[in-house]
Amino acid sequence: MKKTIDNIELAGKRVLLRVDFNVPLKDGRITSDVRIRRVLPTLNRIIESGGIAVVMSHLGRPKGRVVEELRLDPVAERLSELLGRGVEKLGDCIGPDVKEALGRLGPGDVVLLENVRFHPQERKNDPGFARELAGLGDVFVNDAFGAAHRAHASTVGIAGHLPAVAGYLMAREMEVLGKLLERPEKPYVAVLGGAKVSDKIGLIRNLLPRVDSIIVGGAMAYTLLAAEGAPVGKSRVEEDKLDIARETGKHAAALGGQIFLPVDHIVAQAFEEGAEPVEAGSEIPENLMGMDIGEQTAARYGEIIGAAKTILWNGPMGVFEWDSFAAGTRAVARAIADSDAYSVCCGGDSAAAVEKFGLADGISHISTGGGASLEFLEGKELPGIAVLQDR
Ligand code: ADP
Ligand code: MG
Repeated sequence: MKKTIDNIELAGKRVLLRVDFNVPLKDGRITSDVRIRRVLPTLNRIIESGGIAVVMSHLGRPKGRVVEELRLDPVAERLSELLGRGVEKLGDCIGPDVKEALGRLGPGDVVLLENVRFHPQERKNDPGFARELAGLGDVFVNDAFGAAHRAHASTVGIAGHLPAVAGYLMAREMEVLGKLLERPEKPYVAVLGGAKVSDKIGLIRNLLPRVDSIIVGGAMAYTLLAAEGAPVGKSRVEEDKLDIARETGKHAAALGGQIFLPVDHIVAQAFEEGAEPVEAGSEIPENLMGMDIGEQTAARYGEIIGAAKTILWNGPMGVFEWDSFAAGTRAVARAIADSDAYSVCCGGDSAAAVEKFGLADGISHISTGGGASLEFLEGKELPGIAVLQDR
């Protein structure tokens, strides 16, 4: 067990809080503030305890230089609205001006440092840069679960200089995802989809001994189907992963687990939003590609989901961003939301699908981690978690 902010003294302390405010932006406006909202309990705790919150985050991929569009000003504004108090946004995350500004703060104040990725040293986990960041605080709290799989200066290096603990969001992610690996109530079903089987092989391997069944959709289903010799037409198949896919099938069989693959599909002539959706059975004609699972598959998956006590969902069942190919993902999402099982959704696109369909309330936990949750569920120790103090 890792220490959390409940296990340290915060009063009068400068609390360097690393968060993941990597919010989606369109024309300089925040299109979803979920990532900001999820950190509010931690921030409120710091404020109420009389700590001084010095918040740091990354935003986008500025590649180590200042990118005007990736400044955190709109985030500070939104955070201020949500907290109901002023949030000063500083022009940088290190340097004399930052130090001076912090010197003016008192208990309960909140400041947001500028995008840490404006400095190339951040992603290199540069020791000097990490020391400078650490110099801004008395304690380090990491609530950036979404960045915990990266060994950067503001997530890992900094912890070498300060007492380092988890915020509430980080603690909850560790608890929820840890439960999926340690003591899931059975039947335990994993629903896997998304773009590439290569992204998810590690996950499948680690889940196989733990789950009762894995149901598969999305583009990754076509690589698994092709590995079995099924006709998949022009569907997206990772040719270099066919061997691994075959091995995985054997591994599953040996463990007595079951991997369910789609039995029908929605196919199209081209990977285009306007492409005409066509129903296909288990054999996809040569000139067509799989874009979504079919109705029969969705119904079958719905039954398996309905009987589960624990559900892990990662990866959409089809190209849900386009309405013609969203039905399979919507049906599966609804089945998960309607079930009484303990359900966890992870992955950026899957979380976006849940929001798009308005089903978030029916899911027990929507993880804020994309890559981080996948690596956690693969059984890897995340560097951003490893450096936090044990209880
Ligand atoms: P997550 O972010 O939830 O982990 P992924 O990033 O693995 O999910 O995959 C999401 C993407 O997979 C979506 O953009 C979706 O359009 C795409 N996808 C799903 N099914 C297919 C398919 N049959 N063909 C091509 N792309 C697909
Ligand atoms: Mg994704």
